[in-house]
Amino acid sequence: MSASPQQPVISLSGVNKWYGQFHVLKDINLTVNKGEKIVICGPSGSGKSTLIRCINRLEEHQQGTIQIAGHELTNDLKNIELVRREVGMCFQHFNLFPHLTVLENCTLALVWVKKMPQKEAEQTAMQFLERVKIPEQAGKYPGQLSGGQQQRVAIARALCMTPQVMLFDEPTSALDPEMVREVLDVMTELANEGMTMICVTHEMGFAREVADRVIFMDMGEIIEESAPQAFFENPESDRTQLFLEQIL
Ligand code: ADP
Ligand code: MG
Repeated sequence: MSASPQQPVISLSGVNKWYGQFHVLKDINLTVNKGEKIVICGPSGSGKSTLIRCINRLEEHQQGTIQIAGHELTNDLKNIELVRREVGMCFQHFNLFPHLTVLENCTLALVWVKKMPQKEAEQTAMQFLERVKIPEQAGKYPGQLSGGQQQRVAIARALCMTPQVMLFDEPTSALDPEMVREVLDVMTELANEGMTMICVTHEMGFAREVADRVIFMDMGEIIEESAPQAFFENPESDRTQLFLEQIL
């Protein structure tokens, strides 16, 4: 799958989702072009995680269309598989396999999904562990690492699959303050290298520095979407203003 410069890498149109009776995503429209960096913020429960989980089909939407690099996300399992290879994801709680070493966490999908020979998978994994600056941790288990190191392993693991897009769901919110920077630095480097990214985060310094657009969600809706400077200095909506007052 390759996206031409004109073709959006991610495109959501009229997306609605319900959990039972609860309308969690309301008419979401969002286009992300190749190389764009989007930061999503908003109060707890506003649907941010649900939105990005829909983008790699960890959740199903009921109305509207989601396209990744031109492939529509439907119940077609083949399509879902294709899309998941193109979309890397990092979660708040890292979600590493605790019984596998750092290196094994990184090689697993390369060997089983991409059918890469073990030796080559290990070389690839080491390259990405070097990129997130923890090659020396390769033989350890996740439980032996700090939170910041574990999150960097999670990023390396996702990058091993050479995704076109990276999704981050509050990657630093479970970390002790002194470890937030090391993870944001890796994410910033990735952004500077041209990765297409959607980041749910309340790290507003990161948003100012890295985002092309900041999106504010509340109660399942996109309330506001603008360039960082406009977003922070001149928010259009009262709800955005109130939110910013609470977190800044
Ligand atoms: P955010 O990431 O912005 O905090 P979420 O997307 O996690 O918000 O959740 C949005 C809303 O959907 C919340 O009210 C949450 O309780 C509800 N929700 C999330 N997951 C489920 C689920 N699996 N079943 C039912 N309700 C859910
Ligand atoms: Mg969330």
